Amino acid sequence: MTWDDQVKAGVVEFLQRYCMDQLHELREGSSEGEHVLYVSMRDLNVLLPDVHADAIEHPEQIFDDLFITVLRNIEELADDYSTRQDLDADVKPVKKLAPDYSLPDDIRVAAKDPSSEMKFSIGEPRGDRLQEQPLVSVEGICQQKSDPVPRPLEIHWVCGNCGVETIIPTGNKWDIDELRPNQCNACERKGPWNRDQRNEPYQEYQQIRVQEPPEEAENASNPREMLVDIKGDELIDNCNPGDRVTVTGMLIPDESDDSVLVNTRVEARDIRIEGETFEDLELTDEERDRIQQLADRDDLFELLQNTIAPSIYGHEKPKLGIALQMFGGVTRRDYGNRKRGQIHILMIGDPGVAKSQLIDSASEHAPRSVKTVGKGASAAGLTATAVKEKIGDSEEWTLKAGELVLGDKGLVGIDELDKMRDEDESALHEALADGRVSISKADIRTTLNARCSALMAANPADGRFNPNESLAGQFDLPDALLSRCDLIYPFQDVPDEEHDQKVADAVLDSVWGEGPGKEKVVADGGATIVDENGVIADDLLPKYVAYARRNFDPKGEDMKEKIKEFYLDIRGLGDDDQISITPRTLSAVRRLAEASARARLSEQVTHEDVDRAIDLVMDSLNRTIYDEDEGYNVDRIESGKPSQSQKRKYDEVKRIIEELAEEHDAGAPFGKAVDTMKEAGLENPEDLVEKLRKKGELYEQKTGHYRTT
Ligand SMILES: [Zn+2]
Repeated sequence: MTWDDQVKAGVVEFLQRYCMDQLHELREGSSEGEHVLYVSMRDLNVLLPDVHADAIEHPEQIFDDLFITVLRNIEELADDYSTRQDLDADVKPVKKLAPDYSLPDDIRVAAKDPSSEMKFSIGEPRGDRLQEQPLVSVEGICQQKSDPVPRPLEIHWVCGNCGVETIIPTGNKWDIDELRPNQCNACERKGPWNRDQRNEPYQEYQQIRVQEPPEEAENASNPREMLVDIKGDELIDNCNPGDRVTVTGMLIPDESDDSVLVNTRVEARDIRIEGETFEDLELTDEERDRIQQLADRDDLFELLQNTIAPSIYGHEKPKLGIALQMFGGVTRRDYGNRKRGQIHILMIGDPGVAKSQLIDSASEHAPRSVKTVGKGASAAGLTATAVKEKIGDSEEWTLKAGELVLGDKGLVGIDELDKMRDEDESALHEALADGRVSISKADIRTTLNARCSALMAANPADGRFNPNESLAGQFDLPDALLSRCDLIYPFQDVPDEEHDQKVADAVLDSVWGEGPGKEKVVADGGATIVDENGVIADDLLPKYVAYARRNFDPKGEDMKEKIKEFYLDIRGLGDDDQISITPRTLSAVRRLAEASARARLSEQVTHEDVDRAIDLVMDSLNRTIYDEDEGYNVDRIESGKPSQSQKRKYDEVKRIIEELAEEHDAGAPFGKAVDTMKEAGLENPEDLVEKLRKKGELYEQKTGHYRTT
């Protein structure tokens, strides 16, 4: 293709204004490795909108032909091409290249800084874009990455008759049969052919799979994805599973597929990892105003709590805990030690209660969230896995991210945690504690970020939750995992008529809108802040949380004494020979207090924040490790052993069964045994008998008659 002089002059001027520093670095002999000139699409759109539009439609013609043609005539870059007078003051001034420059032969041109016209969502229909505007920029999470493999750029065929070589470029083709010459140009025979592989030029090749970001996904548990081809050292291994990336490249039809239906993929020209900051949201002035108005309200925390699963009656404290979890504490580094800010919450209890709905609601409101079940929604499980996958026409190892990695810097909701796979257990522990997962599978060894906060729910191993038993004994969960949770909530489905009525009202009101009749709060612009049910507007909360997390890292040095005092008080409450709480409880209070300050959009943790945090932690401790007989005992969570008082109850049950069995040949009659136990002051004797039977310490000699073993 030939380009008219005016277009070429425009490109010269563009290079002179925007690319001179890069060209200086690229001058021949001055840099190693690949030679790529990155053209900012945004700048191109400012100076040469027509060329920009052409580049989106025909990227190869513009970058591989027009730009390269201009760069070959390097002396032109030394001339004065700044002919345009109509430019804004902020367009960069012209710099000229000294005439003795030369550029390397293998220089390539690639696009960076995607302009808004190039934006393409993974879920969008691809047909039109493929034909009309194939240069796209795609944002998403790198979900899978293959090992790099060398791929020939051209195949060298040597004619078996006359020995003359024919070279076929591989382009986008993978099938070797499609890359065979029709006939030898020298002797005109059709083969046989031998490959001269040693002299074929290679390029490193890698594939990644990018998944749409959770906030864009229509179906959070089944996000759509896009394959991305990566070629050349410059871009290989630039990102890891879990990274948020923006890929700029060509949308191309997938020629490695046999089907006539067109699969598409992106051939990357640039890959950028999005920055460390959690949110890149843009707020309007009106939204900023609504956020401030909400933060200034006296009933802020009540509103936050009400907004989590409003259709579920009660559970106020867990709801407030979950609301604070979204804001999170501040992650700090202390002499290289990472002190996590992420708050982890575990809900355990009878199936069918509110746990799943609380997870759903939190996932909906958190600005970045992933929802899954214990066994993992995909083959990658919760953490990551190495799988063999077809790349081109061979099978290669690829690293595939699971939900904890995909939820990096966000909230991961995990239901049915008890169904977690064994190999995920230790990885989950590492993710919760250190914010990363180590992968060592096949020949892949790496560490991936998993700085997520986890909201988890588990069902008891025996189907029903027994408040008299220690938690660890009833749930198939490792102690280490339980000990990483800042807040643990047992949920029990106890029949209670008054309570049931309120539950029914809450469920029905949430459908038919007969709300508690709270005052609706509206911003100046007319947008809702709080609706008539006392619930924060749907569109506002994720933005509020994101804004608070990005802008506020509250400090709490003044509160050290107060938190220490609380800790020492509780330590003093247990029996002498047992540990009431561990220093981890201190960290939980710290994180929750910071989250509370963040939620108020404050840089300073106050007494009220600490009180709020202590109240939540104490509530959770009262539900989990408190026992009337022995006070606070951390063993009730962290060890599968029955607690001291539990053991006393078991001993009593066994003694009663033993005595009755001596009087009855068939063994102790169940009804009589239960009555005797009730008289002895044991609660839920039926459960205790069943537990001991499962442990193998009692057996049923005959239906309804028990003996000790
Ligand atoms: Zn030949």
